[in-house]
Amino acid sequence: MMQASSASPRPSRPPQNLEREESQLWRWILLFMVLLAAGFAALAWERLETLPYHLGPMAVGVFVLSVLLAVYAYGRRREVVELKLLLQDLQEHVGAAPSEEQLDQLNEMIARSQRSFKELIDSFDDAACAVSLDGTLRTVNKRVSELVGLPYTAIVGQKFFEFLDEPTRASVEAGLMRFLEKRHWVGTVRVRFKNNDRPHYFDCVLNAIVKSGEVVGLSALGRDVTGQHEKELRFTELFETLQEGAYFSTPEGRLLDANPALVSILGYATKDELLALDPIQLNPDPKQPPVLGRALDDRGGVRAREITLCKKDGSPAVFLESSRAVWDAAGKLIRYQGTLVDVTERRKLERQLLQQEEFRRRLLESFPDLILVVDLEERYTFVSSRVRDVLGYQSEDLLGKKISETQAHSPELIALYRDVVTGSRIFGSAEYGARHRDGSGRTMRASASQFSDADSKLAGVIISVRDITTEKKFEHQVVQSERLAAMGAMIGGVAHELNNPLTSILGVSELLQDSQTTDSARKQIGILQQQARRAAEIVHNLTYFATPPTPGKTRVNLLDVVERTLNLHAYSLRKNNITVDFVREPGLPYVQGDPHQLMQVFLNLVMNAEQAIREARDRGTLRIRLGTSGESVWASFLDDGPGIPPDVLASIFDPFYTTKRPGRGTGLGLSICKSVMKEHNGAIEAANAPGGGAVFTVTVPAAIALS
Ligand code: ADP
Repeated sequence: MMQASSASPRPSRPPQNLEREESQLWRWILLFMVLLAAGFAALAWERLETLPYHLGPMAVGVFVLSVLLAVYAYGRRREVVELKLLLQDLQEHVGAAPSEEQLDQLNEMIARSQRSFKELIDSFDDAACAVSLDGTLRTVNKRVSELVGLPYTAIVGQKFFEFLDEPTRASVEAGLMRFLEKRHWVGTVRVRFKNNDRPHYFDCVLNAIVKSGEVVGLSALGRDVTGQHEKELRFTELFETLQEGAYFSTPEGRLLDANPALVSILGYATKDELLALDPIQLNPDPKQPPVLGRALDDRGGVRAREITLCKKDGSPAVFLESSRAVWDAAGKLIRYQGTLVDVTERRKLERQLLQQEEFRRRLLESFPDLILVVDLEERYTFVSSRVRDVLGYQSEDLLGKKISETQAHSPELIALYRDVVTGSRIFGSAEYGARHRDGSGRTMRASASQFSDADSKLAGVIISVRDITTEKKFEHQVVQSERLAAMGAMIGGVAHELNNPLTSILGVSELLQDSQTTDSARKQIGILQQQARRAAEIVHNLTYFATPPTPGKTRVNLLDVVERTLNLHAYSLRKNNITVDFVREPGLPYVQGDPHQLMQVFLNLVMNAEQAIREARDRGTLRIRLGTSGESVWASFLDDGPGIPPDVLASIFDPFYTTKRPGRGTGLGLSICKSVMKEHNGAIEAANAPGGGAVFTVTVPAAIALS
């Protein structure tokens, strides 16, 4: 054909065509240079990375394509120049047939031009082909033959559907009419090659090939976007199947998209229903700004926080939100995207746990016993706050310390812990003496048992400790009073037994005295009578003390009660070298009271004074005064002992308060005195006398004047 056109006798036409072609070529070069410049400008503006991700590689592609085409155009221009020279040469010999050599030269130039065009389209990374309307592949580039897995020659001339499962011939033919109208089509096509099961995705540009105004075929340029498409697919799949909620929202908090998980967590039936909501409808509190939105000037990037959204049924749902803002190329905030983990249940459980913890704490605090937990390293891991009352410590004073390091407990407790922790006893208890922080001694009873962790492994020992000091003192007191009661009964019996012989001695001695003639015999019998009377008086007093108290009060003369008390205790006072200095006002009024109880009060005061004096020296004086003051009768007991230390004074009337050695005092004497005096509407007071020693004053309201 080339030969035919070169042989035609129209010498003036080729140069004109060439001129046109050359200027057209230059226009092309200019256009590509402009494109090139645009590419550079885009690069220079550093906007490439701000372009949507699928346009970035496109821009680089345009740039590369421009360079390639410019190079191609330059090559073509050279060819045209050569051709021009050749034709000029031919024109100069117009009329003469071109020589063989000139024709060869022409053929070679045409072949070279075709080769360089082929090389150009082969160098594309994108697939390119030309197809006639019946589906015959007219030309394909190297990329197409790579994809099909066949050489160029095996493809060209064949129908495209021989190599493709998808798109099918039918689907292409169905769209052909529309294409013929528009002559241009851009879009993404899913392609399945016969040699490969994996589907490929191509971003395609199809253009009609027009000859003499008629579409004869189409050219297709396709960019393989399979990787990107698969990424998008994976992302979509992830978004759709994620258990956590995921969303996109406007800066104002309006949802743009939400995954099925979020739709269902919020209780909506469809996504559209959720997306149609006003942002404020997601707020638990409509007065607050939308929960998902953020301030427009917020450039905080990733944000993690806990939020509460309102479900469709109005109930609140608590989420852990992790979201980030997305800005456009111009730096404008365009949307938020984030994930929402539903922690409503977790928060509910945490609240329940907290409540249980609080309940447990309160239970332990209200528990009368001290609760201790000691781990396998003998360290306190829990100490209930009762430790403050029981031992005077704060929990923190013991926590973390070793059980053997602390002063608060004794070797018996450590032994109990070790027995239980080693398993020689599963459960054990022990009584032991402990020291309160204030220095006072306490009696404790501890019960210990093993405890295990969540894996049923031994984790330590739980010990509950009870302060049984009071209990023990009561026990002691009960034993004492039982012993006293037994003694009282015995004394009653003895007194009764002594009364008869004493009555006989007195009777017989009186008879004897009358019959005596000598003074000395009468004097001796007098002494006998005097001593027998004294013995009878003591016995009488003993029966008075030993007789169980008659309930109720009678008219009592305090003088009488004090004298009886002194008589009863006379022996002990004498033995301890204590002189009693007893002064009373005459004509004391009676009081209304229980003589036995009042005697017990006076006896306590006398015995305390005696003990106080004995502590300081081996002799002393007890001054007892009885008098009246207004409507009351008072009795005071002043000793010359060491007195009462001022810091002790406030406590001496407290039950069980004693400064005496164990066994010497129960600490109950003065507290009994106090309660007896209260029952008598009276009072008892203690003080230190200015000259030294302690003075106790008892006051009872007068009943009837004595006179
Ligand atoms: P007890 O005698 O068993 O200790 P009390 O209640 O009778 O119990 O006395 C309480 C404490 O009051 C005594 O331990 C002692 O310290 C103090 N006390 C009582 N009487 C006197 C006294 N006359 N002189 C000094 N201290 C006294």
